[in-house]
Amino acid sequence: MGAGGRLILWDIDGTLVDSGGVGADVFDLSIEQVLGVRPPARIHMSGMTDPQIVRRYLAMLEVAEEEAEAHVAPVLGHLATALAGAVDEMQRHGRALPGAEALLRELAGDDDVLQTVLTGNLAPNAALKLGAFGLQHWIDLEVGAFGSDDGDRNRLVPIALERAATIRGRRFAPSQVWVVGDSAADLDCARAGGVRCLLVATGRATYDELGALEPDAVRHDLTDTAAVAALLRS
Ligand SMILES: [Mg+2]
Repeated sequence: MGAGGRLILWDIDGTLVDSGGVGADVFDLSIEQVLGVRPPARIHMSGMTDPQIVRRYLAMLEVAEEEAEAHVAPVLGHLATALAGAVDEMQRHGRALPGAEALLRELAGDDDVLQTVLTGNLAPNAALKLGAFGLQHWIDLEVGAFGSDDGDRNRLVPIALERAATIRGRRFAPSQVWVVGDSAADLDCARAGGVRCLLVATGRATYDELGALEPDAVRHDLTDTAAVAALLRS
């Protein structure tokens, strides 16, 4: 690998995949399994890690702070089971986002590019969401960083860099690394890791909202394969 090497860290929800609401439903189910009660409302999950989402729901349910932490791991455990049981439903209601598959395939054909995920999802759920839409072929999940590694997304870039080095023997300077996401939290974690960030307006936030955050690049979607691939190789 020459100086042209690139590590691409893909967010999943809102960037590569729309889970069709199933990704949100499974939190309700998992919390009900553990606490016997469903959250009374939905939170905006965009950019949050799964552990953060669980803690927010426990706070919404007014579970005392000293009790709440003991519920986090069991809820997360149910979350993986619940999503595994909802793959068919996710395939019916969800989709790969426009351009995602063609772009992943294009970059996977480039030996200078290593692409994996940086996601708030638990590792098994990241694999399920990508696999539901056939995107796992193009992504080296082993070197990814997940919500199951750390509930704080801002700590995930160094984890992916470390895995790329130890598992694949590939070292990347910050200037060789892109985070691609759909939310302010994706930009925050890129900045925390000192790497570049492309934001795409295929999640909750609009193009103008994302542009106002001044990421290194912003696009409406991933459909212009050649242009986005060139950007990520730049
Ligand atoms: Mg996202």
